[in-house]
Amino acid sequence: MHITRRKTRQIQVGSLKIGGGAPISVQSMTIPHPRDVVGTLEQIHRLEEAGCELIRVAVPDMEAADALPKIKAQMNVPLIADIHFDHRLALKAAEVVDCVRINPGNIGPWWKTEEVIKAVNDNGIPLRVGVNGGSLEKPLLDKYGYPTAEALAESALNAVHALEDVGFTNMKVSLKASDVHMAIDAYWLFAQQSNCPLHIGITEAGTAATGAVKSAVGLGWLLSQGIGDTLRVSLAADPVEEVKVGFEILKSLELRHRGVNVIACPTCGRVEIDVVKMANELEHRLGHIKNPITVSVLGCVVNGIGEGKEADIGIAGGQGVGIVFKKGKLYKRVPSEELMDTLIEEVEAMAKEQDAESPAGSALEPSPSMLPHEEMSLVSPRPSSREIPVLPLK
Ligand code: SF4
Repeated sequence: MHITRRKTRQIQVGSLKIGGGAPISVQSMTIPHPRDVVGTLEQIHRLEEAGCELIRVAVPDMEAADALPKIKAQMNVPLIADIHFDHRLALKAAEVVDCVRINPGNIGPWWKTEEVIKAVNDNGIPLRVGVNGGSLEKPLLDKYGYPTAEALAESALNAVHALEDVGFTNMKVSLKASDVHMAIDAYWLFAQQSNCPLHIGITEAGTAATGAVKSAVGLGWLLSQGIGDTLRVSLAADPVEEVKVGFEILKSLELRHRGVNVIACPTCGRVEIDVVKMANELEHRLGHIKNPITVSVLGCVVNGIGEGKEADIGIAGGQGVGIVFKKGKLYKRVPSEELMDTLIEEVEAMAKEQDAESPAGSALEPSPSMLPHEEMSLVSPRPSSREIPVLPLK
């Protein structure tokens, strides 16, 4: 499957480009109240270590806004302030952070948004307009009766058009719902009518397993249609898990090629090694490798090498002695207890070789294929939300 990405306007969030063909970035959000600077930074540094490219911090009150300079000074990736209700928090945060997120459904009258626009403009940073199924404006709830994809898309389009009318275009947009159908439909509807870069996500997706599945289904569909410039997987779990799942979704669609891709057999009665333990250990011990290397762990040699043909390197268990293979060919035999260390050494050597061959990670990302927004078919009249998924793939 070839994915043609929708061409959006590009914005700059700190050092990171979003939209306009830039690699789809993975972001997450910290859990502690920012007054806990140490706890917030501990989480931020773990997120950075996991590859998180943008970090959002909730700013619920002025105490949180006051803590932002200390947090920002000790982190390396761009920082986004998440503001609801009180636009004065956005004005304060804009002096420090790389992007401010506001929700048009709860920020209040238009003059407050105008003050926020002035603040982000004065500080040269973009805005994220984040609409949410749980906090739609009253007129839209009155019009549609309850949150719908159409209401979400209309809310976001209203906000974008109002901002564009006063000459402000330095923004990205999110339209979040916890219902996968609604989120997909809302993003799809919006994407037909605006070239704003999109932050995609399924909000309140659930626990680590159910949230990962819902996010993979929802974000996978959108990404396969070329929709999405940055994403967050929202999990009721350690935010580091959000980053891991986000990259796995992008890697599975070959939209990002970051890091080791561990594949493991499901095991069966022929298994000779502890595949589950080894695969988990591999993910952990190879987390520092940024190069796109596929590593396979297979339980036995019977079908092992054949099943691991797609891998760059892998191991297959045997009775006392296992094998290491490269590109589906036997490389060497190793005592079972040495399999893991040998594999890790070989992967690290492979990564070094790749680094020597291609400068500064230039081989790590696929070059984007883009479709200008103008060439995307406009839908008129809009299909009902349940008709949307049957539209032909691009
Ligand atoms: S590689 Fe071996 S152990 Fe794993 S599923 Fe295949 S046959 Fe079973």
